[in-house]
Amino acid sequence: MRADMKNKPAPLLNPGTLQPLKAEELTPIFCEELVAQELDDNTAYVPIPAEILDFYKMYRPAPLVRAYCLEKKLGTPAKIYYKFEGNNTSGSHKLNSAIAQAYYAKKQGLKGVTTETGAGQWGTALSMACSYFDLDCKVYMVKVSYEQKPFRREVMRTYGANVTPSPSDTTEIGRKILAEHPGTGGSLGCAISEAVEAATKSEGYRYVLGSVLNQVLLHQSIIGLETKAALDKYGITPDIIIGCAGGGSNLGGLISPFMGEKLRGEKDYRIIAVEPSSCPSFTRGKFAYDFCDTGMICPLAKMYTLGSDFIPSPNHAGGLRYHGMSSILSQLYHDGYMEARSVEQTSVFEAAEMFARVEGILPAPESSHAIRVAIDEAMKCKETGEEKTIVFGLTGTGYFDMVAYERFHEGQMSDYIPTDAELNESLAKLPKVD
Ligand SMILES: *Cc1c(COP(=O)(O)O)cnc(C)c1O
Repeated sequence: MRADMKNKPAPLLNPGTLQPLKAEELTPIFCEELVAQELDDNTAYVPIPAEILDFYKMYRPAPLVRAYCLEKKLGTPAKIYYKFEGNNTSGSHKLNSAIAQAYYAKKQGLKGVTTETGAGQWGTALSMACSYFDLDCKVYMVKVSYEQKPFRREVMRTYGANVTPSPSDTTEIGRKILAEHPGTGGSLGCAISEAVEAATKSEGYRYVLGSVLNQVLLHQSIIGLETKAALDKYGITPDIIIGCAGGGSNLGGLISPFMGEKLRGEKDYRIIAVEPSSCPSFTRGKFAYDFCDTGMICPLAKMYTLGSDFIPSPNHAGGLRYHGMSSILSQLYHDGYMEARSVEQTSVFEAAEMFARVEGILPAPESSHAIRVAIDEAMKCKETGEEKTIVFGLTGTGYFDMVAYERFHEGQMSDYIPTDAELNESLAKLPKVD
């Protein structure tokens, strides 16, 4: 997809000098091969190494399912398909990139990798991938999640990962934060800072990230390639492709072969990114350079952002609470190649429950954002009588999110939408880059 873009995504900038980052500045943090992938705007196809393909055979190809029961329930003439990525123990698409990143780390002869995790999907996926390649895996887990979500933590430990609640006394930045804010529950930004420090200060370790980066979208393109192969086999052409967007990796992966055709002028598709109204990066953010982390130590990326110190109101779709968005998707959206929509939490869980009851799969809150908009589009078809074909990404299962379902059932779910004044406050602090 990136190879076909006329306007390439803007380069990452060094947070100190504000100059485009060179490969040698990135290799102390990331694996060499992954740095090469990150910076490569021109190679259209990157072969999947045989070792990664072997691992994919455990849970891929992921099923592409025609949602007959949902269509019937809605009484729509639309044909609805979903690509289900929850068929692995970690329960989401994140494993597709975790295994690739672990493979390149192993190939480089590293001892292990470090990362952060919030709710725990990425940490779980990475733990599985590292145990497969016998790599050490250090996960900094936001302390409140570590304490409140013991199940994902124990899945990670089952796969051999070392899970530390963040902030911790194992890093300099962690000790500093603890001294300043004793008793803090931590944040994703703080956990990122600890994971990066742990990687750069330990011999034979690198840092890995589960979304946003170009390399992660590349790994996730397996979702789109399989979807396209299956649709082509049956002679089906989608009209609308829908995906939820947190950092943009599943949506970027799902649309990549279709967007390639669109960019080359061969075909046209409507592509819709769905985000929570509580964290509306595409629909209400600014297209500007911003820090990727709250601690402002990571590179700057040009993206749709709400500002790196924007803290969304509590929302149960933890994977969609990031303030920014993939640079690739941001550029495509800016250039008019895709649409975006924001949806409120209660309506997302209404869609999730309807889907669970008719299609059998209990969806993750994140994935249910895509279900919401797929249902909305199918209902529009019912009004107009159009037989459109809708494909959406069902990124994962929601078994570890039952507290969220409980809140929904008890009528305790909030639909907080930030005011313009609140957004302007964090947007006003965007770094000044020409
Ligand atoms: C992390 C996650 C997402 C959002 O991440 P993207 O990088 O935007 O794909 C969506 N669904 C699930 C189940 C997740 O775990």
